[in-house]
Amino acid sequence: MGKWFHIPPGDPYFCVVGSPIAHSKSPEIHQAFGRQCGISLRYERVEIPANSFASALAEFVASGGRGMSITVPLKGEAYRAASDHRPRAALTGAANMLTVAEDRRTVADNVDGTGLVRDLLSNHKINLSARRLLLLGAGGAASGVIPSLLEQNPSELIIANRTMVKAHELIERFREGGDLRAIDYAKLPHDTYDLIINATSLSLTGGLPPLDPAVIARSTRCYDMMYSTDGRTRFLDWCTEHGAAGCSDGLGMLVEQAAAAFSIWHGVEPETAPVMAALRVR
Ligand code: NDP
Repeated sequence: MGKWFHIPPGDPYFCVVGSPIAHSKSPEIHQAFGRQCGISLRYERVEIPANSFASALAEFVASGGRGMSITVPLKGEAYRAASDHRPRAALTGAANMLTVAEDRRTVADNVDGTGLVRDLLSNHKINLSARRLLLLGAGGAASGVIPSLLEQNPSELIIANRTMVKAHELIERFREGGDLRAIDYAKLPHDTYDLIINATSLSLTGGLPPLDPAVIARSTRCYDMMYSTDGRTRFLDWCTEHGAAGCSDGLGMLVEQAAAAFSIWHGVEPETAPVMAALRVR
């Protein structure tokens, strides 16, 4: 019996790994996609602490595991432990999913940006082309979505972060992809944005980014990557109070990135709307 995985013979085995992991909705989402598409699979949560990913991955592959979703704090470790890397993972140096190929090589990918952009465009009908975007935060989630946001050709993408050196590192990495600038929260121009995306971890503790409400216009849409069952977060409530045109939490991003992973693993594109609706009523 392995240290991390207990994989019985039978259905193909998938999991989500991270620490903490008990809160993850990925098993419900992938099992719902499986039922919808008539595909039998096992998908579990596995708690793996930081600095243990490489040994866990070796065990996963030896035990016959087929694919993993990866969350905090393992996305960087997962990228480094994989044998091969899809370009969108290589751009960010982080993996949010990993596939075990027939020859047992492991392929790192990152579909967080795909998930966010699909949610914005398809579910919320938010057009990004030629729009002014403000991204709050410069951690793993922000870094993972920048290439996908730039692919939509916004007129500009501004990154505001508490630790400016991290925002400048992202500018250096992605500057060729479009008009990208890093600005201190306190120095944000007295101007409004078409879309403000909160990619800080502040919502997890009920905190708010130090943002001047003047950046919100009556047409501004606001998005929080954090999600909740009722779709409300402290940041989104604050945006509503200051007159935002619409607010969306990150549940759709979570479900859309899971759908992108599911289609890579199973070759079928699942329908996301019924799964999102089921998660909302819990
Ligand atoms: P990281 O820890 O990598 O980054 C955290 C970010 O929050 C940093 O930019 C950090 O700034 C900022 N921050 C933290 N505390 C403060 C503070 N007190 N004041 C100002 N800024 C602060 O986290 P992730 O990027 O991995 O995750 C961010 C969020 O995105 C989480 O809420 C996570 O749940 C969510 N997420 C949602 C997904 C989805 O599918 N919906 C997918 C991935 C993430 P600094 O650099 O200065 O420390």
